Amino acid sequence: MIVVFEENATKEQIDKVFERLQEWGFTPVLQHGEQTSIAITGDSSALKTETLEAFDGVMKAVRLHKPYKLVAKEFRPEGTVIEMEGGVKIGGKDFAVIAGPCSVEEEEQYVETAHLVKKTGCRILRAAVFKPRTSPYDFQGVGEKGLPWLKRVKDETGLLLCTEVMDPKSICKVEKHVDMYQVGARNMQNYDLLRALGKSGKPVLLKRGLSGMIKEMLLAAEYIMSSGNHDVIMCERGIRTYETATRFTLDISAVPVLNQMTHLPVIVDPSHPAGKRAYVNALAKAGVAVGADGLIVEVHKDPERAWSDGPQQLTFEQFEQLMKELEPIVNVMGKKLNGRTPPQKGGGEASGWKR
Ligand code: PEP
Ligand code: MN
Repeated sequence: MIVVFEENATKEQIDKVFERLQEWGFTPVLQHGEQTSIAITGDSSALKTETLEAFDGVMKAVRLHKPYKLVAKEFRPEGTVIEMEGGVKIGGKDFAVIAGPCSVEEEEQYVETAHLVKKTGCRILRAAVFKPRTSPYDFQGVGEKGLPWLKRVKDETGLLLCTEVMDPKSICKVEKHVDMYQVGARNMQNYDLLRALGKSGKPVLLKRGLSGMIKEMLLAAEYIMSSGNHDVIMCERGIRTYETATRFTLDISAVPVLNQMTHLPVIVDPSHPAGKRAYVNALAKAGVAVGADGLIVEVHKDPERAWSDGPQQLTFEQFEQLMKELEPIVNVMGKKLNGRTPPQKGGGEASGWKR
């Protein structure tokens, strides 16, 4: 059930409904956005909508016939915009490109990559030091050894860092060094991890499981939100199908579906479904065109020597080209690439970009 308040509802009126719900044994969750609403999580079938609509200040009570409540579009119809340090935003009119190598490998190379990513206007860098690999014999990430490199990169570039965590314990190892957490496809249903991230206080990029249904992904996000963290970004990264020409099949329709079902921002990872760098550019553009709020793209100085996912990582040149080609498409979709205002007509790039 979602209780939606009148625009001019007073704090006293809202508190009264909240407290009454608690007295009745429900778990209400309040959110203030363009609309103030209370979601009642858990079973509220015994509650009548009329009972709630009788309270002063309540505009309507909507029964949700869905297992997820906090991620539901009805809870926040205007959409969630995640705000991070330095004015970086994901969602709404801001189209964010998160970029960087699949794995952090060596210090100097990582620093160099960070500078390139910054030069293209991106503001969030991939910073994976723990890697979930299908084979136990493959490179598992540099681990804690890489943390001082992350600090150096942040000090030198001011980029925000997004790192993958695989279990609740790894959160405390990296929390001082990073700005957002990534839940990899293989961990979408790692519920202990999701609950722990719900208490982490930093945005969480939640990737769709290799065979994860959209509903299961929404419920995974509900785990994070119901544990207290409302800053969740959904990421479509390709699903397993019968097709082997690509590594996975990018489920492009998941983007409009998610945009209809949830208020959370939705981004696309074109790298992992492609599996080959030749396809990344087209899939990235497709992601923009179907209404994504951002991308996460793998880029490497020397992909042929990458320690993981070499075939799908873009070269620096390819990444720069992609960023140039994306900008007009992002603008046509009514969004700003990495928060930049598009140049004035006829002004060209020489007129300069403004944030
Ligand atoms: C990654 O981002 O490098 C990664 C391992 O992605 P996924 O979890 O989507 O496979
Ligand atoms: Mn990868």
